[in-house]
Amino acid sequence: MADYDYDVLIIGSGPGGYVAAIRAAQLGLKTACVEGRETLGGTCLNVGCIPSKALLHASEYFDAAANGTMAKMGVEVTPKLNLPAMHAQRLDAVAQLTGGIAFLFKKNKVDWLKGYAKFTSADTVEVVGKSFRAKNIVIATGSSVTPLPGVTVDQKVVVDSTGALELPKVPKRMVVIGGGVIGLELGSVWRRLGAEVIVVEFLDQLLPGMDMDIRKEAAKIFKKQGMTLRLGTKVTGVSVKGSKATLTLEPSAGGAMETLEADCVLVSIGRRPNTEGLGLDAIGLAPNARGQIEIDHDFRTSVPGVWAIGDVVPGPMLAHKAEDEGIAVAENIAGLTGIVNHAVIPGVVYTWPEIAGVGLTEDQAKELGEIKVGKFPMLANSRAKTNHEPDGFVKIIADARTDKVLGVWAIASVAGTMIAEACVAMEFGATSEDIAYTSHAHPTHSEAIKEAAMGVMGKAIHI
Ligand code: FAD
Ligand code: NAD
Repeated sequence: MADYDYDVLIIGSGPGGYVAAIRAAQLGLKTACVEGRETLGGTCLNVGCIPSKALLHASEYFDAAANGTMAKMGVEVTPKLNLPAMHAQRLDAVAQLTGGIAFLFKKNKVDWLKGYAKFTSADTVEVVGKSFRAKNIVIATGSSVTPLPGVTVDQKVVVDSTGALELPKVPKRMVVIGGGVIGLELGSVWRRLGAEVIVVEFLDQLLPGMDMDIRKEAAKIFKKQGMTLRLGTKVTGVSVKGSKATLTLEPSAGGAMETLEADCVLVSIGRRPNTEGLGLDAIGLAPNARGQIEIDHDFRTSVPGVWAIGDVVPGPMLAHKAEDEGIAVAENIAGLTGIVNHAVIPGVVYTWPEIAGVGLTEDQAKELGEIKVGKFPMLANSRAKTNHEPDGFVKIIADARTDKVLGVWAIASVAGTMIAEACVAMEFGATSEDIAYTSHAHPTHSEAIKEAAMGVMGKAIHI
């Protein structure tokens, strides 16, 4: 290998980086992964997907006991919150999963280089004063919280998603800035545990990017659960005095200002790519206007030998998208053909019920041509009804001429699991008829997908 230390060196060990490292090593390449954090796994395992799901899952149990759902099924309990224990099981999940990546690195002979990497040239990075030269370098540095100008996150009164995972007590009133994925997931956690939660969203609807029917239905459900939604409203400032915050709000379209008091403020207005301190100028690579690193179809940057994947490149900031790109980039580096079908990346919001979608929204599909839509309410799905989970629906959007499925959207208790079927169907270019004539086990929530597909032809059975 002449004077190269590695065939592949990956910067960042999130779902993009660690998966790329393992696949590269599996393909026989000498591989290292540099990570600045104490533990592997990136945002997702340490402060993102995993700890948030640990709290969402635990708080769902608390809510089911507190809100009468369990009593309806003949289980009468009065829940008592042990928040330190709830946090402990969150930390345990994180420790086990991040430790699992360290084990996989050892098993696959991936070198874990501890510290922050900085380019000194296109094939060399420096990590805590030591230089490493690699034939290929993959930037998988992920993203961090977007700050709200003029607002200081102190992780006590004003928190970001990381602080919101670690609150030592349930706030009396939490104001969430941003009705996106993080705001709704973490807002749901603290509402279920007893906080009054007010979500302030700049746009007219929650969850930008999702199908409009879904966004409207989600708002109805969250309101019914007791969240206050202030749509079409922007936060223009937050001041903190002692343990209280005062927010200034303004209608997005302009109008009179008002103030709102809170004892916890969650700033969740998006995330931005991590490129600072990486020494990109040393290799002549400049991020685009949105701070992302541009890549081609094969994940190559404009600098030969330097590749990029995950949250730091354009596209949705999702762990599974980063993982898929991690596998593909390693395969491309090894001379194989690594491809990611970016048209079929599902998105899931892990609230109760879950919200999921893949492919085009109805509005996007209409722009391309004539469509047919099938919709089926979860209220008419026998399993959801029996389980006391009546909220939501499945919606399938198909091309009117070819019947090819263009998009699938769902709100259902297990929508995140159900959407996998839609992804496989779309990956294989299925028509709605293909789904409608596929046997689905009874009684399952997934039957709602089959019924929505039958609905595309106007022939659902149970409505
Ligand atoms: P990251 O996971 O951000 O990892 C990048 C790593 O690179 C970090 O560990 C960082 O320390 C390291 N790094 C950065 N710069 C350097 C450097 N110079 N040298 C060395 N190391 C460096 N997505 C989902 O799909 N499902 C979810 O349920 C979900 N929940 C989320 C919940 C929260 C609260 C948050 C914040 C995010 C969530 N996400 C979820 C998004 C998901 O975490 C990201 O899309 C995913 O982690 C991106 O993976 P990545 O590998 O690109 O980067
Ligand atoms: P987001 O982009 O999902 O939502 C941010 C929201 O804040 C938007 O709706 C925006 O209109 C609003 N906003 C912006 N400025 C505002 C202001 N001043 N006042 C009021 N509202 C304002 O961002 P997020 O929720 O922070 O999540 C960041 C990323 O993390 C997302 O890209 C998401 O993909 C990822 N994530 C995914 C999951 C999941 O897959 N389940 C969970 C958490 C996070």
